[in-house]
Amino acid sequence: MRSYRQSLNTMADKILKPELLCPAGDTEALLGAIAGGADAVYLGADLFNARIRANNFTLDGVADATRLCHAYGVKIYVTLNIAIHEREMQTVLDYVSSLYSSGVDALIVSDLGAMREIRKHFPDFELHASTQCTVHNTDGARFLHIRGCKRVVVARELDRANMERICKGAGCEIEAFIHGAHCMSVSGQCLMSYAMGGRSGNRGECAQPCRLPYRICGKNGYFLSLKDMSLSDHITELSEIGVSSLKIEGRMKSADYVYGVASTFRSMLDGGRNATVKEKAHLSSLFSRQGFSDGYFVNKIDSSMLGIRSEENKAESRNISGREISLPKIKLDMHGVFKVGMPSVLTATVNGLTATVYGDMVSEAVNAPMTEESIIKSLTKLGNTPYCSGNVKIEKDENIIIRVSSLNALRRDCINKLLETSREKREAVYASTYNRYKKTVMRTAVFSRIEQIPEDVSYFDRVYVYLDRYKAGGRANGIYMPPVILDSEWESVEKMLRDAKADGVIYAIATNIGQIDRLKKMGFIISADYRFNVFNRPCVDYLRDEGFDTVIISPELTLAQARELSGNSVIVYGNIPVMTTHKCIIKDTAGCDRCNTYMTDRMGASFFCEGIFGHRNIIYNSVPVYMADKMDTVRDFSHHFIFSSETREQCAKIIEAYKRGMPTDKKIKRIK
Ligand SMILES: [Zn+2]
Repeated sequence: MRSYRQSLNTMADKILKPELLCPAGDTEALLGAIAGGADAVYLGADLFNARIRANNFTLDGVADATRLCHAYGVKIYVTLNIAIHEREMQTVLDYVSSLYSSGVDALIVSDLGAMREIRKHFPDFELHASTQCTVHNTDGARFLHIRGCKRVVVARELDRANMERICKGAGCEIEAFIHGAHCMSVSGQCLMSYAMGGRSGNRGECAQPCRLPYRICGKNGYFLSLKDMSLSDHITELSEIGVSSLKIEGRMKSADYVYGVASTFRSMLDGGRNATVKEKAHLSSLFSRQGFSDGYFVNKIDSSMLGIRSEENKAESRNISGREISLPKIKLDMHGVFKVGMPSVLTATVNGLTATVYGDMVSEAVNAPMTEESIIKSLTKLGNTPYCSGNVKIEKDENIIIRVSSLNALRRDCINKLLETSREKREAVYASTYNRYKKTVMRTAVFSRIEQIPEDVSYFDRVYVYLDRYKAGGRANGIYMPPVILDSEWESVEKMLRDAKADGVIYAIATNIGQIDRLKKMGFIISADYRFNVFNRPCVDYLRDEGFDTVIISPELTLAQARELSGNSVIVYGNIPVMTTHKCIIKDTAGCDRCNTYMTDRMGASFFCEGIFGHRNIIYNSVPVYMADKMDTVRDFSHHFIFSSETREQCAKIIEAYKRGMPTDKKIKRIK
């Protein structure tokens, strides 16, 4: 299909260009996106999307938006990018059914369980894997592609070389963010907002605690607040390496912002060039946090990436006018045929779309036959539509008469048919197949360091240690995979895995979908970490079918929600990682001789920060989950322990406390 954009740019059209994908938080922003030259837009309807504070669209609103987009040759994607609770699964399918029938082009999904259900009931509904799926290597993208995602939105932390490897190796469309807000934590791996105030980022409720000041190594600062990203200097490279879609972040942003950013990137893409100095200044005037960063893309990962919204930035953006955005009309070509004794026929053509409709019979005129001009006048009354008249051709017998009301009806039918993009409605009934799996009940523990593991670990069936800290001859029989492994890092990871395997290690906790195939191939017995954000039964099914023998369910679930998933594993002890950062936050403050320190928030809560594989950081929650005296409430589950900053003696004491069901007087977090 030729798009509206393409019809305006037939010359530049011949060069293969990535799609420009723009956000639409509301109807005004949608107009801004289309007017700014988006090839596609993405938006959230009022349920199940990661921007619950955006205005969003009603389901009727989505249907209207779809008609408008399609009239302009613009594709429309709807976000369904949050973790889904078991009890919401039928509502999700009903909701998807409505989106499907409105003619939405694709869904952006993050929950593996929802993905599986949608695939099952709507096999022809195009799925895009959200950035919340945490894909940062080729295996991850390929995994999702083989299981039905036409496109994968890759992690924002990728550098150019790793992005290119994914584009070349994944076999599917790759979508990459090029402009807008950055998260400090790797997407899909942030529990910070949930841990601090109960507002879950994975459920679209992020309270942005990363924008607050913290204290690290005696210094105060905004160590978790990244500047917005902008790859405006790399547009030609992104096209060359084969990125299919360039995504602008900002479903909370105004129409002016969306229009401004979209039109700037549009002219770069059409001109096959990067941003000019003037364009960069314009982008900055629309919104910035002390400038932009391309640090991840160019592999310059340091404190220059940090920034907050300064008073100067706010003043700069105040000058943006709140002008009304109106879309240009699209030229509609029409061809009418009016022959005596035959039904009237009207064909309209626009953007490669064609609609033909048949109307009332044409009669022979007794006196005063209709002129061609009067017919054209009726057919080109396009006032309230996205169209204006283009070439109009009339074929008619000499002496005809047809009522003006018939001509109007003919025109209306034809326009409606042209704008009608809906599909046939399809019902989907959710039926869980969950109970076919063997339930496991065992005790497992992850230790961050091998030195931490106490003498007696007979309490546990499996003892995992972080892979890069594994040492032969220790008491670990399992390894815990690094949460982020870029393509360029696999070689060293595979070597570590082979060494551990040779030493008799048989268990592995996979922390990301991009690890499943390799771990299985190497013969490990694999468990799925809580990092898979498992919220529902189809998600467990999905992972069990992939060969996982246990699944650690999301610590965000309440006890009542978790019970739906009994027979899996719950975290009964430990400071759960609340952020995994691609950038070392300690480097900016204390230097990296230790890479381990504490970060304190404004309320005095203290978070352990640890350097991990690849010089990334894990920030652990300030309080541990503690259930030693409440184990009767979780008896239908396997029990998983996380040891992070504890010493070996402290680990031994905790195990003892769990053996004896002892309460504690420390500040703790319960599974409620
Ligand atoms: Zn460091």
